[in-house]
Amino acid sequence: MKLEDYIARVDDYPHEGIIFRDITPLMADGKAYHEATQRIVEYAKSKDVDVIVGPEARGFITGCPVAYALEIGFVPVRKKGKLPRKTIEVDYGLEYGKDVLTIHEDAIKPGMKVLIVDDLLATGGTIEASIKLVEQLGGEVVGCAFLIELVELEGYKKLHDKDYIALMQY
Ligand code: 5GP
Repeated sequence: MKLEDYIARVDDYPHEGIIFRDITPLMADGKAYHEATQRIVEYAKSKDVDVIVGPEARGFITGCPVAYALEIGFVPVRKKGKLPRKTIEVDYGLEYGKDVLTIHEDAIKPGMKVLIVDDLLATGGTIEASIKLVEQLGGEVVGCAFLIELVELEGYKKLHDKDYIALMQY
């Protein structure tokens, strides 16, 4: 199955000059969604992961079915002010601005093997911040998985040599 057939290109969204890759057609197609999830599940199995971490909001859509399939937990990374209990936080730069990401401070136990899953790697700001949050809690990021990598933005550099897969490249 060619997953690229289920990604819509949207010009000038959310700003002029940006080419947005819309993953919602992939999510809307049961077979394509299952296939994409399954490829990440196989990667996660090879890394023997204990828990999936995903940044809001498309990291939930991408990461939760992986956790479900593996019968392991899912931990959300969210923008500041969204998580109800005690959190730790990290500033980050993203493709179109700046923000603060948070995680519950008891969500990851020291030594846990973590796979971080998000829909798309652009500048790498989101994944870099997510890695920092997991590592501050003592977790070991054994890999990162994306549906899409925007290759020209060189976000992989923000992974600092952590292993990763991207199912599609643009
Ligand atoms: P980064 O932090 O790597 O610059 O941006 C990645 C984050 O922004 C991801 O969480 C992703 O959901 C969102 N993002 C940035 N550009 C796009 C895009 O073209 N398509 C989609 N689906 N998400 C994007």
